[in-house]
Amino acid sequence: MLYSRIVETYAKIEATTKRLEITSFLVELIQDTPRSILDKVVYLTQGKLHPDFLGIELGIAEKLLFRVLAKVTGQTEAKVTTIYKKLGDLGTVAEELLNDKTQTSFQRGALTVEEVYKIFDMIAHEAGQGSVDSKLRHMTGLLGKASPSEAKYLTRMALGRLRLGVADMTILDTLAISLGGGKNSRPLLERAYNRSSDLGYVARTLATGGIKAIESLKVTVGRPIRPMLAERLSDAQAIMAKMNGECAAEYKYDGLRIQAHISTEEVTFYSRRLENITDQFPDIQRLLKNNIEAKGVILEGEAVPVDLSTGELLPFQLISQRRGRKYDLDKTIEEIPVAFFPFDLLYADMTDYTDRRYPERRERLRELIPRNGKIELSRQKICNDPKQLDDFMQQAVADGCEGLMIKSIGPDSTYKAGARGWTWIKYKREYKSEMQDSVDLAAVGAFAGRGRRGGTYGALLLAAYDKSEDMFRTVCKCGSGFTDQDLSKLPKLLEKYRIGYRYPRVDSKIEPDAWFVPGLVLEIVGAEITLSPIHTCGMNSIRQGAGLAVRFPRFTGKYREDKSPEDCTTTDEVVEMYRAQLKKFSEKLTTEAA
Ligand code: ATP
Repeated sequence: MLYSRIVETYAKIEATTKRLEITSFLVELIQDTPRSILDKVVYLTQGKLHPDFLGIELGIAEKLLFRVLAKVTGQTEAKVTTIYKKLGDLGTVAEELLNDKTQTSFQRGALTVEEVYKIFDMIAHEAGQGSVDSKLRHMTGLLGKASPSEAKYLTRMALGRLRLGVADMTILDTLAISLGGGKNSRPLLERAYNRSSDLGYVARTLATGGIKAIESLKVTVGRPIRPMLAERLSDAQAIMAKMNGECAAEYKYDGLRIQAHISTEEVTFYSRRLENITDQFPDIQRLLKNNIEAKGVILEGEAVPVDLSTGELLPFQLISQRRGRKYDLDKTIEEIPVAFFPFDLLYADMTDYTDRRYPERRERLRELIPRNGKIELSRQKICNDPKQLDDFMQQAVADGCEGLMIKSIGPDSTYKAGARGWTWIKYKREYKSEMQDSVDLAAVGAFAGRGRRGGTYGALLLAAYDKSEDMFRTVCKCGSGFTDQDLSKLPKLLEKYRIGYRYPRVDSKIEPDAWFVPGLVLEIVGAEITLSPIHTCGMNSIRQGAGLAVRFPRFTGKYREDKSPEDCTTTDEVVEMYRAQLKKFSEKLTTEAA
């Protein structure tokens, strides 16, 4: 199939924001796609080559693409850079430069999907000496054959920024309509996706085995399962009511969620965002390998730093020090030992446990887990009145936890992969501030520090994620809560995201001293959400001309490296928090008046 066929669809998708229209363009594309390359077309449309959990990224640096574009279009790198600064998108630069080029190659427009995929995949696997030259050669070859509009998307793809906004759910709708016999097959496809985290695999399974194969698609060791997520409430009575009077309350450990896949050959760990994080925890890997006899097991738990001499739980952020320390990891393991608290079982005994009720999963998990100081089942108590919950909460906080996870133990307590629902509720201890919960925000800019903070950043410009527009909108400038250690490492942490202009997907009325591509996510608490004329989060949704801001924001010390910027608190959630705050306030007034 010609790559131009895909590009035709991309251009149509870009020209609309209506999900139904996007779906119908994709349905046409899928119907034109030979089944043998269906998975490739699905990956490419989402700007990928493989499922995220394999961690295979194209990894072409912007700088290298400047060189490629200069070469292909006969311009100087300086000229390419200047145009880029003006347009802010290298894809558009490629398109414009090729449009301008009078002498077009006769081959342009003959690229096939198979060829594009193969070359990108080769580039993605290039590493080590000579890889830069080789990437340059491959990219020059590709763009040398591309039409201007193909070049636009190939360039964006190479940068890892295709970002057409085709959500996973839109792909599932498309597959249901085009190959699944209609919308009715959508829940089955979604179930298959939640259990495999791989849309290409779902598409391939559907293309080769039809909906029957999708129906029988099972959880497999080695393929991460999309995690079940919790709703939140801050009132024990309301929680009890949601749980129909009985629930399992568990310590909510303040650590890193790990989904462990244990096979006869290896033990692999996936993070909440399904990244392979096995390398960070060789100690837990050894523990599970040596202590769990059963093989073919998938379980979930929380890794928490501990003081081994006292058994005391330590702050979560210590874990992040393990990241990127491949070489002195042994030393770090000694300095920052980690305990593992399994809390759920998803697969064992050749059986998909996600369909079983929680008490049954928990019982089997208990049998599988050895009693050992470094690996211990999450502490649990069956509760049936709010007072019991509050007492247990106090105990959890005293033991260094964030609060409780309240879980249903009723008939509805199956593991709902990929879904956020009321069968899990997080009950966090109230922060001292009035905001009921923390928010996770992306750093999009920074202000130079003064005085004691000279030479580093004094404050960060933070943004929430606008899911419907795929944009980041600012919500506060935060300079408090950072320790001296944080301050000294911030420039280094943010260096890879730093750019010399406002990133096109960032919406800001404020001009910071440095701009970043959204990448680093931080947990923030504040006093309240207020209306703001200078922040763009939730602009016009409460009042015309006003956005929303977090007042008195403070960094909690938690870098949310387990979250992608798109996992940040959404602008809709901030609007919701503002409304909930208003409601609480008016209820308080009514009570006081009464
Ligand atoms: P989200 O709800 O989107 O995951 P979040 O990561 O900010 O947002 P948290 O407030 O941290 O959510 O609460 C959910 C997390 O709590 C889980 O993802 C898991 O990592 C952690 N956790 C700790 N203890 C438990 C437990 N006993 N059972 C389930 N999850 C637990």
